[in-house]
Amino acid sequence: MNKISQQSVDYDVSIVGGGPGGSTAGYLLKRLGLNVQIIDKDIFPRQKLCGGILTFKTFKLLKRVFGETVESLLDKHIINFSTNRFEINYKVKRIMSNNISQFPFYLVDRKVYDNFLLDKAKEAGVDVIEGDKVEKVNLNTCEISLSKGDKFKSNFIIGADGANSIVKQEFIRNRIIRKEQWNYNLATGLECFIDRKDIDKNLFNYPMISFGFLKYGYNWLFPNKDKVILGVGGLIRKNKGYFKKALHNFISALGINPEVVSEISGHPIPYGNFKVTPIYKNKVILIGDAAGIADPFWGEGIYYSQKTAEFASYAILKNLQNIKKTTTFYLHLLTKYLYSEFKYTLKLRWVIFNQVNALLKYYPTHLLLKMMREKLIEVTQGIRSYRWFRLKDFF
Ligand SMILES: Cc1cc2nc3c(=O)[nH]c(=O)nc-3n(C[C@H](O)[C@H](O)[C@H](O)COP(=O)(O)OP(=O)(O)OC[C@H]3O[C@@H](n4cnc5c(N)ncnc54)[C@H](O)[C@@H]3O)c2cc1C
Repeated sequence: MNKISQQSVDYDVSIVGGGPGGSTAGYLLKRLGLNVQIIDKDIFPRQKLCGGILTFKTFKLLKRVFGETVESLLDKHIINFSTNRFEINYKVKRIMSNNISQFPFYLVDRKVYDNFLLDKAKEAGVDVIEGDKVEKVNLNTCEISLSKGDKFKSNFIIGADGANSIVKQEFIRNRIIRKEQWNYNLATGLECFIDRKDIDKNLFNYPMISFGFLKYGYNWLFPNKDKVILGVGGLIRKNKGYFKKALHNFISALGINPEVVSEISGHPIPYGNFKVTPIYKNKVILIGDAAGIADPFWGEGIYYSQKTAEFASYAILKNLQNIKKTTTFYLHLLTKYLYSEFKYTLKLRWVIFNQVNALLKYYPTHLLLKMMREKLIEVTQGIRSYRWFRLKDFF
């Protein structure tokens, strides 16, 4: 490979953000022989607001990239809860309960999971700076300035700094991304938790999804070993001012004593923002939440941050090998493997939130969903794609 380190640059690639996307990109690029740094404003292990559910497709990626399996991750206590059961409700009316998914739901604590991935990057030899914030990014010269005064120049920058990305802000300032377009599709997620010590140990031992408390969004309950996470997420423009109420209504509908519930925290979730331009002049690439790439129905983003990290790494490699421009290859991979699927997800979202959500009150809709359940779960877990669906497959 034509390695590019020159005297004038500090790194081949500077990665802003050491979440799952940044760590995966750092690990892969170092393994490809590049000189890489990751900068994160926080010191790890750090908490990240998240339900922590990992799907089947994420495990395929973890095996391919890191050689880790479900068994090895259970052994290392990275997975902290697993179950085959799940429940889908309209408010508290059960639509699907006692369901057994063919592939279990695995849950992680993001403090543990993200630290594990960043350690992988460190072990591979990536230079990691923690507790220092990237404050300025120059998209044309590929220079970044940190809050403690350091400056670095690189051949490529990867913006893996989440939904409030400073690298993405620079895209907005340079009119590569339109702010209105970004905000139009943005969702918000609120979460709180209850300590298992404060509830009966037989309660809340499987994931639960509830529609009906929010328009264009849903509530969730995700079990962990030591706590139970309660959340709500949905499109901001359709639910302004309703998020807290929807979470409180969910909690009281479940019969949970509000006194055992922690404080509520919130964070943006990309919810269809993938239509923005995620790359500038072949050398500044946005991945994961920073690129608006998360499932536009469920809001699942861990997998997509790691998948886009893989795409960005291979796009940089192809560029260095003079085979394809970074932009061409990155956009090709995104369009072929992610956006084509998201097109169907957006259609499903429209149907569910505009039509079915209202009809979920009625029993025939429950029956229809029950008939579809196995297929729906396969799509959610990434075992099967929407594109392979025919209506007859449902029955
Ligand atoms: C309430 C909620 C629940 C969710 N539940 C799930 C779920 O169950 N399953 C799922 O798959 N997804 C879930 N998601 C989505 C998921 O959390 C994100 O999609 C995922 O974390 C994106 O990963 P990332 O690496 O792109 O960014 P992040 O995980 O956000 O990482 C970004 C990193 O960049 C760092 N950073 C930010 N700015 C700077 C800066 N200026 N300088 C240096 N460092 C910086 C941050 O400290 C952080 O470590 C949820 C999201 C929310 C809000």
